Amino acid sequence: MPLIKNFVAAICALAALLFLAAPLTWAGGYSGWTADDLAPAAGAQMPFTYGTDRVIVVLNGKINISRADLKAYIDDAARAVIKIYGRLPVPLTIVRIDATEGNHVGFATSTFDDENDYGLIELSLGRNTSRASLNKSWTLTHELLHLGFPIVEKSKRWLAEGIATYEEPIGRVRTGMTSARQMWAELIENAPAGLPQSDGGLNYTRSWGRVYWGGALYCLLADIEIRKQTKNRFGLEHALRGIARSGGTAASDWNAHQAISAGDQALNLTVLQDLYTKMALNPGSINLPQLWNKLGIVENNGVISFDDSAPLAAIRKAIESGS
Ligand SMILES: [Zn+2]
Repeated sequence: MPLIKNFVAAICALAALLFLAAPLTWAGGYSGWTADDLAPAAGAQMPFTYGTDRVIVVLNGKINISRADLKAYIDDAARAVIKIYGRLPVPLTIVRIDATEGNHVGFATSTFDDENDYGLIELSLGRNTSRASLNKSWTLTHELLHLGFPIVEKSKRWLAEGIATYEEPIGRVRTGMTSARQMWAELIENAPAGLPQSDGGLNYTRSWGRVYWGGALYCLLADIEIRKQTKNRFGLEHALRGIARSGGTAASDWNAHQAISAGDQALNLTVLQDLYTKMALNPGSINLPQLWNKLGIVENNGVISFDDSAPLAAIRKAIESGS
């Protein structure tokens, strides 16, 4: 008997080990939630499907957020990213939520698990976060966008962060999660931190503001220039789709140069490379007040209004609406 008991115990231990060590796979359903108003149990999984792409949320810890609210948060972020990429950047994304104390969305990271072939986003989430706070949070949209671009070398992080920083509010404007006024107000407030700081160019900067907002300014200028050269038929998002379609997602081992070339090739332009030379390899200079003026964005004591007679007003509207 002891032998059999030991044998059974060993099998159970082995099964438990295999279960814990196994890569996350599509189970065709989820467990842990039984009703919309019940908070999910620890270890719960929740699958989502967007066309042929899948997101699986894995909850680590207990939260006091209803399944419906959490579902809306994931859906809104995914829809915002789909507004930019036309689909999710990689076929399978695991979102691992670590429940923490508090009532807001915390720190998040994104990476790609090459061995098991999925994008992995790890997100800290206060267990008492309200639906209103979830609605305001840009974090998951930002991390999902990262999966559409190669994980580039450190000196080019400004490009990856710039893309996520620039496109996140655009995606959220297009899904109605934020307003165009709010988006431009935040860009106008933060863009000065991205201006050259005697660093010789974005590739040489160590400034947090330059990495995020200098990168976002590179993206804004690229978006405007692509729209100018294609009579507003295409924008930066189409170059990004081209990069992802050629394989340059977080799943790739591409460097930044390959991504830039693929983006330019997709549109048969040289905008990304030209701006790279100007802003990454050289300090570049941007006249921000003139730029806002041309786009028809008028800021008065933090209140934004639009001048539709401005020379780039049509481009501003296309950036907001994607059409
Ligand atoms: Zn980021």
